Amino acid sequence: MEDLKSALQDFNLSVSTVQGKGRSLLANRDFYPGEVIISQEPYVCVPNNSSVSAQKRCDGCFSATNALSRCSRCQVACYCGTSCQRSEWKLHRLECEALSRLDRDKRKSVTPSIRLMVRLYLRRKLQHDKIIPSTAMDNYNLVETLVAHMSNITEEQLVLYAQMANLVNSILQWPEINIKEIAENFSKFACNVHTICDSELRPVGTGLYPVISIINHSCLPNCVLIFEGRLALVRAMQHIPTGTEVLISYIETAGSTMTRQKALKEQYLFTCTCPGCSKAGQYDDILESAILEGYRCKSEKCGGFLLRTTDGKGFQCQGCGLIRAKEDIQRIAAEIKLLSEEEASKPSSNSNYQAISVYKKIEKLQTELYHPFSIYLMQTREKILKSLMELEHWTEALAYCKLTIPFYQRAYPAVHPLLGLQYYTSGKLEWYLGHTEEAVKSLTKAMDILRITHGTNTIFMKELLMKLDEARAEASYKLSSRE
Ligand SMILES: [Zn+2]
Ligand SMILES: [Zn+2]
Ligand SMILES: [Zn+2]
Ligand SMILES: [Zn+2]
Repeated sequence: MEDLKSALQDFNLSVSTVQGKGRSLLANRDFYPGEVIISQEPYVCVPNNSSVSAQKRCDGCFSATNALSRCSRCQVACYCGTSCQRSEWKLHRLECEALSRLDRDKRKSVTPSIRLMVRLYLRRKLQHDKIIPSTAMDNYNLVETLVAHMSNITEEQLVLYAQMANLVNSILQWPEINIKEIAENFSKFACNVHTICDSELRPVGTGLYPVISIINHSCLPNCVLIFEGRLALVRAMQHIPTGTEVLISYIETAGSTMTRQKALKEQYLFTCTCPGCSKAGQYDDILESAILEGYRCKSEKCGGFLLRTTDGKGFQCQGCGLIRAKEDIQRIAAEIKLLSEEEASKPSSNSNYQAISVYKKIEKLQTELYHPFSIYLMQTREKILKSLMELEHWTEALAYCKLTIPFYQRAYPAVHPLLGLQYYTSGKLEWYLGHTEEAVKSLTKAMDILRITHGTNTIFMKELLMKLDEARAEASYKLSSRE
């Protein structure tokens, strides 16, 4: 632990134990928006490749090029080229041996989380045997100090972890292995593993980053966790004065306090006491929940939010006083549920056209049911937008993108990666459609946010910068030719 402390000192950080929260990471100097507070390579990681996933990713860099080649022996590992294959070889050599012993069917049951566990044990062994070096921020002791919450997990989870541990045991076939310890490590994974995302925040894999895991959660975080390939980087989103705790969000923060708390309790087994959550039950918090997840006023023109009437028979608008009957709400909610279930039961290979038509029906019903700033309505519009983009229906996609932006502006702080990415999408669509001046505005807004959350060094950000330059040049050309 002393090693870790001095390694963190190099980053101007320190670890301390906060009553009721466990370990915390503190800033030892002022950090400013966009600064990288800490970065870490994973102890172990694995791409989200499964036997059913159509698109495979490289084990080394997580890229999804068309030219991936599989390891000829085990057929499980995929590589984009020899340099990734070589960098992974020491670990994969042992993994490959173990996987190759399995028959074909059993090899298919090796999910990414099983692979991650197998790799955890193999990497521990390699460091123990000094075949790969250990450092202060890269050693198994750090994994041992992670919380497992074994006493809080359900009987069902316990059984599942035991089954998964048996599978890992049958893959490794180490006589001295402790199956109970593997099960405990699965519980550790459940609350400590990070989803690795690409620059557009789409999940591409999972990884264990034991030092990043020290960072606690807040629904109003001062930092953001972003990945470059499999490297995790924590960047300041605001000024962090010396002595302040470094905080990131473990969950999607757009949601009512109750929804956020439920998600944190279910997955991370703790009750959040951040400044956002400590407002639970206060008028502001009730109002916010009613807007995000509650119903709309019966009157078309009224933007008021609704609260349950004291007799429980309906919901009253806090703006104009009109009451909506419970039956009216239940009827629309039932229709939405039916449509959503129908859509979910269809195979994912179904056409985007069909999905759009169903989601538009759901959107119409949700517009009648929920407040205009409803999170559910936004999620439906996101799905329509995604399908429209895949169909390259740019004009309509832009219209939907524009519909979601006011929601993003309201639900997220001024500097948030999702808001930046939404401006980016809008800017790209405006650019394709020749709305050059709007494109410049949107891309500038995207740049202002994403340079803080994503830095400026990645290909993704260089592309954004290039698009912005092109759009600016064209806008000034259009302006000069008009004069
Ligand atoms: Zn690669
Ligand atoms: Zn192999
Ligand atoms: Zn919270
Ligand atoms: Zn009203």
